[in-house]
Amino acid sequence: MRFSKVFLSESTDASLGVISGIKRFPSREICTPVAFTYTKGGSVPHLTREVLEMAFDASMPVVMPAENIAFAYEAVKVFQNGMTSFSGLSESIFWCSQFDHAVNSPKSLNQKDKVALWTRFGKKLIDADSYMDMMEAFKPDLFTVLSNNDTNKTSSNKQTRKSVDQSISLLQKCVERHKNSSILKDTGILAGIQGGYNVHDRTRCAETMSKAEVDGFVIDGLFTNGLEVENITFEDIEPVIKVTMDHLPKDKLKAVYGAWNPDVILKLVDMGVDLFDTSLAYLSTEKGCALNFKYPKTTKRSSEVLETVPTKKSASSECNLLTNGVATVDKPDDDLLVNGNWCVINTMPGGQPVFSDRIVNSVSSEDTNVQNEKETRKDTNKTDELNHKSKLPKLNTPPDPPKKKATPAEVEEKSAAKYSSFEFSLRDPSVREEFIPLDPDCLCLTCKKHTRAYIHHLLKTKELLAPVLLMIHNLHHYQMFFENIRHNVKHCGKAFI
Ligand SMILES: [Zn+2]
Repeated sequence: MRFSKVFLSESTDASLGVISGIKRFPSREICTPVAFTYTKGGSVPHLTREVLEMAFDASMPVVMPAENIAFAYEAVKVFQNGMTSFSGLSESIFWCSQFDHAVNSPKSLNQKDKVALWTRFGKKLIDADSYMDMMEAFKPDLFTVLSNNDTNKTSSNKQTRKSVDQSISLLQKCVERHKNSSILKDTGILAGIQGGYNVHDRTRCAETMSKAEVDGFVIDGLFTNGLEVENITFEDIEPVIKVTMDHLPKDKLKAVYGAWNPDVILKLVDMGVDLFDTSLAYLSTEKGCALNFKYPKTTKRSSEVLETVPTKKSASSECNLLTNGVATVDKPDDDLLVNGNWCVINTMPGGQPVFSDRIVNSVSSEDTNVQNEKETRKDTNKTDELNHKSKLPKLNTPPDPPKKKATPAEVEEKSAAKYSSFEFSLRDPSVREEFIPLDPDCLCLTCKKHTRAYIHHLLKTKELLAPVLLMIHNLHHYQMFFENIRHNVKHCGKAFI
């Protein structure tokens, strides 16, 4: 596996890169920053292979955590053709990560040379040799070495020191096995940088691991997986991310796991992180929510940018924002101009747009006038739409029965109705009569054919189709988010505009 930078921003540490040289797919290139598709048990959650083919490019790159496919190890070992063939995703570039970062981990109780993986059959203590045996059976195109990531914001200095010491020891053993393995010698290898929120331990870990014979690094140990990541701000992680990046080689791949707030993702891209995953799309689906944040593309043309941001092109090609052969559409999104400024827009149930406080990058007055005219037309259309909606017959739905004490299901529903800044809940009764797509501007299969009201009904009746439709939208939404990130890095030199 090779990784090369093809564009370096002068104003930030953001860059565009290309992952290539994959042994199974020698002609394929993946442009970074990119989010590999999160999988569970070897498949994209809720989506069969046939649905993937219908709604997406079925050869999308995937990340399969060893923790949630460990149960298949013996079978895959006998099968001999690797995990992607075993699970019907043989066309996908396969990154095997270590832990399932979408599921909250119990306390690991690691031992000196062993790390706990929480499989569906319980805790499995695993050492470096056992882990590399697993990698040889799974045959990934890229994998993260075994490390101790059992740290978060509350970890003591003793815990962060232990995680670094153990991770360095495990890395040395895994790298040695990697060099001597005929099966894995062409496989990309990522080291897990640990140290929690302790700047000293982060520095020590990054300095040591930067000398290892690896293709890149995962900045890990920031949270103990699952939804805990939603409560972590960029300000929380900035000091340790900065000190880690400062000590790592600029030209190697950098990855961060997890369902981070999209604003944090943007800032991580601007700090030089290249590789992410789509666990946010999965976790949002599990809550019965639809991602609805919008992220603007810059209107700058490449010719304007070239005057201020010099590009470095690879010998093979300019990074043209392709992912699996799907080209980026360079059309600016008109809906993202508010009072002449770009901003993040969330559309809450009820059709009420909620605008972020973060107003950035003013545009020219000429553009503003054109945009105001477009907005006026759009407002007129929206008024027509609302008038039409008011004429629709009300659903003859019986009122909810009086409740004395909330049942567990009701508590769950109430909890899921909480809004984050980037998603809204389809369990919320307010969407019961919303006969509009999840996102009127979205081109995914779900938004083309189905309404919020229908998906609300599916969730209420616990139909399995509900998470299928939500997953299609959320995954598509997250892929478009990264497409826009690549566009802005290329044309503006930064993701956070
Ligand atoms: Zn959609």
